[in-house]
Amino acid sequence: MPSTIESISFGGHELFLKRDDLIHSDFSGNKARKFHYFLVNDFPNIQKVISYGSNQSNAMYSLSLLAKMKGWEFDYFVDHISKYLQENPQGNFKAALENGMKIQDKNKIADIQVSDEILFIEEGGRQSESEYGISMLAEEIWEWQQEQNIETLNVFLPSGTGTTALFLQKNSLLLNKNTHFKTKIFTTPCVGDAGYLKKQFLELESDESLHPTIVESQKRFHFGKLYREYYKIWLELRHQTGVEFDLLYDPKGWLVLLDHTEIFMHPTLYLHQGGVLGNASMLPRYRRKFKDMNFENIL
Ligand SMILES: *Cc1c(COP(=O)(O)O)cnc(C)c1O
Repeated sequence: MPSTIESISFGGHELFLKRDDLIHSDFSGNKARKFHYFLVNDFPNIQKVISYGSNQSNAMYSLSLLAKMKGWEFDYFVDHISKYLQENPQGNFKAALENGMKIQDKNKIADIQVSDEILFIEEGGRQSESEYGISMLAEEIWEWQQEQNIETLNVFLPSGTGTTALFLQKNSLLLNKNTHFKTKIFTTPCVGDAGYLKKQFLELESDESLHPTIVESQKRFHFGKLYREYYKIWLELRHQTGVEFDLLYDPKGWLVLLDHTEIFMHPTLYLHQGGVLGNASMLPRYRRKFKDMNFENIL
């Protein structure tokens, strides 16, 4: 760190791309930012980290790495693992198992005894400690913005829990204070709708003046589902920019950004939040579902 910022052009727009996907070959993306606090501080009592969520989540994989680096055990609680995935582990799930993750039944999460040897991490890292690493991200963007002398910078990123977007907007506003620079964060919900995302913001920060601006698509997309327009824009991005984006969040992010051309009224920076390892399980599904689509016939 700091991660690099590149110029790209896509869909007829010139914009900047912050490559948090390249922070480190293992520990990257916004999960590296969120878990930075745990990586750089000492926790002499902790023996085990516990978390929960989906069986392909990027947070799960990043936590497996954190636990490995720290010499902690890692118990991850999930609702259900299909027989197929158990027998054919892939993507984030496979990589996390290889790092020593133990899968536990979500129903048993209530039985855990609170102890100072256990570090509990909320789903997707939605917790206050995440602000530590995300405030460093805000500072990197801020320093670059000043170097470039960009008075108003619009930053776009797709949201899950909204933790990254919220802490980024809050910390950017703190940095903007008493200057003539403005850093404005735009985001779109990929899990749930705008109402859900707003609720997530409010749980982390009650002062709405510190919240990012939410923009939406006309069509309703469901998280984790496969859409032809997602695959198309993902292929186009890889072709036109040479960059691989993730298949869960970025396709909706780019569709919404291109739909809201008012954002491009000011220099615009897209935040690449990593997650590319998860494509190992998503891409075969896309290829099977949309057999007719590939680089040759869409471009
Ligand atoms: C986790 C993740 C997100 C969502 O981040 P939130 O802070 O939960 O909004 C977006 N993109 C990628 C690639 C992720 O791994």
